[in-house]
Amino acid sequence: MALLDIHVLGSPILRRETELVTQVTPELRRLADQMFETMAAAKGVGLAAPQVGRSERLCVIEVEERRLALFNPEIVHREGAVRWEEGCLSIPEVFADVDRAGLVRVRALDLEGNPFEVEGTELLGVALQHEVDHLHGKLFLDRLSLLKRRSALKAWDRERDKYPEGLRVLPVTDVREGSSATSAAAPADD
Ligand SMILES: [Zn+2]
Repeated sequence: MALLDIHVLGSPILRRETELVTQVTPELRRLADQMFETMAAAKGVGLAAPQVGRSERLCVIEVEERRLALFNPEIVHREGAVRWEEGCLSIPEVFADVDRAGLVRVRALDLEGNPFEVEGTELLGVALQHEVDHLHGKLFLDRLSLLKRRSALKAWDRERDKYPEGLRVLPVTDVREGSSATSAAAPADD
């Protein structure tokens, strides 16, 4: 399966509001699959549709054993606070501590179009908040203090020339399956 190119900071689509998904079609399931593959190849834990140049409200997350495709995700509950060091596949090599809710509950549609809820703390909680932000044109940089944002942007200045078209093209490598246990999750084509 072909990997998708990742849009990096400066690409306008990262700043656009996404569109609600009205139906989870086979085409969108394929897109989610490609996003999972792209995220794994880029060694990320989350990826949102605008990062691959798409406008659908869709993101994927893989944290430890949880592998989630979320259509129209919405944070319905947040509590507590956590400070977590974040990075972003669209802003390679730039990291900063971000203040987030300590726990969030998110409502979304799954790959079958069925509603479900997921609750997360720590890395999962942070990833959920980071990806939902992407779907509303928001980046983790926006959540930094002026001073921290300035130093993050300075770090990005040293990186951006590596992406002349505003795109991060992943090298094609042989994608190894981590474990065969995950293959059962893929639905047969319909
Ligand atoms: Zn990101």
